[in-house]
Amino acid sequence: MKYSQKADPRNLDEPSEEADDSQQEAVCPEPQRGFSRRNFVFACGGAAALFALGGTVKAIGGEVLCRPPGGQDESVLLGQCIKCRKCLQVCPTGVIVPAPLEKGLLNVFTPTLNFKLGWCDYCQESHEGVPQCVKVCPTEALKLPQDATVETVIIGKAYLVKEWCLAWHLKNCRVCVDECPYEAIEFDKNGVPVVLYDKCNGCGLCEKVCISMQSSRNVAHATDRAITVKPVEVVDRLLAEALEGGR
Ligand code: SF4
Ligand code: SF4
Ligand code: SF4
Repeated sequence: MKYSQKADPRNLDEPSEEADDSQQEAVCPEPQRGFSRRNFVFACGGAAALFALGGTVKAIGGEVLCRPPGGQDESVLLGQCIKCRKCLQVCPTGVIVPAPLEKGLLNVFTPTLNFKLGWCDYCQESHEGVPQCVKVCPTEALKLPQDATVETVIIGKAYLVKEWCLAWHLKNCRVCVDECPYEAIEFDKNGVPVVLYDKCNGCGLCEKVCISMQSSRNVAHATDRAITVKPVEVVDRLLAEALEGGR
């Protein structure tokens, strides 16, 4: 399916998807979502503290982050985003959040995606495939190519930590396999879900629905859900490391 960026006459304020209890805890309080003078002063103060501590090119330059559709050219996004919050406000699933300072000074308050809160369906359900974030962005920091499709705009890739996965331990969980809208996860011969990277577009639904952290038995040592969506280059690096380590 092709994206259309033409105006959607319908009301932008579609009901947001409800987060479950565990996800509710992760919701950013409203003040963090904004770009107030206070936040800006706080950010600058934090940055100054980092400099004072000897920190750090990484903090200045920032991590690579998952971005909303149309924000995949990092230099364009960082150069043109004015941190106006419009994309955050219209996203029907609430997946867009402002990047915090620890993601780097250049990234701070730019839009990134929190797949604990929502997922990106390219506004298929609520706006017939017209990505509302792209539509409202006043600076074209988010801009899709004319021929962009759900399949060709890659937000990130799903990465599975088998040791944290319930199916790896109990063979009785198939939530992500069933929920993935693009059939990008399947069971391998050992009954463990594996991601089919050529089909995954990083929509984030698998991370949102993953129930691994709800089992204390399996995840006592886990620091995150068993499946999470990360930027493509991060997943490429993790996969290369896993290959090297024979995992
Ligand atoms: S395309 Fe729609 S669902 Fe996806 S991030 Fe943008 S506003 Fe949210
Ligand atoms: S709508 Fe555009 S300019 Fe505004 S915060 Fe989002 S990406 Fe940045
Ligand atoms: S594997 Fe996860 S991120 Fe990838 S397409 Fe399926 S649900 Fe979306």
